[in-house]
Amino acid sequence: MSSASASASAASVESANTHTTDIKAPLWDHVTILERPKTGGGNALWRCKYCPMQKLSSYTRVEAHLLQKGRQGIGKCPNVTYEMLSDMRKEVERCKDLVERSKTRTVSLPTAPSSSNTADTNKKKQEQEGACFCIGKKLGH
Ligand SMILES: [Zn+2]
Repeated sequence: MSSASASASAASVESANTHTTDIKAPLWDHVTILERPKTGGGNALWRCKYCPMQKLSSYTRVEAHLLQKGRQGIGKCPNVTYEMLSDMRKEVERCKDLVERSKTRTVSLPTAPSSSNTADTNKKKQEQEGACFCIGKKLGH
């Protein structure tokens, strides 16, 4: 019974993850992207979900608009409330943390190739299983 409930919860998690937030630029979720940049980090054509602002710009300007930052060459969003602002700031901080963690994880990974070792172990395991199967057959006779 426990296995049935576990698989059901796994399925619901999977469906919730169909939309993935870009942790390097989480505030793209708060605008509608009309035209994606052809290369990573380029300018995108976007429209704000909270006001009629539509602009072709980099992510920095999107952040400046939503987080009410001045002097970034873009107007501040007039419809972002204090609650939304603090939520977005938390989200940005959380994602920055995730980016930092993923960086350190990548650096600490060993670069030595271990694929040959793994293949060898699998082969041995298969041989052992095959041998056991033969013995069992003989004993049964
Ligand atoms: Zn706006």
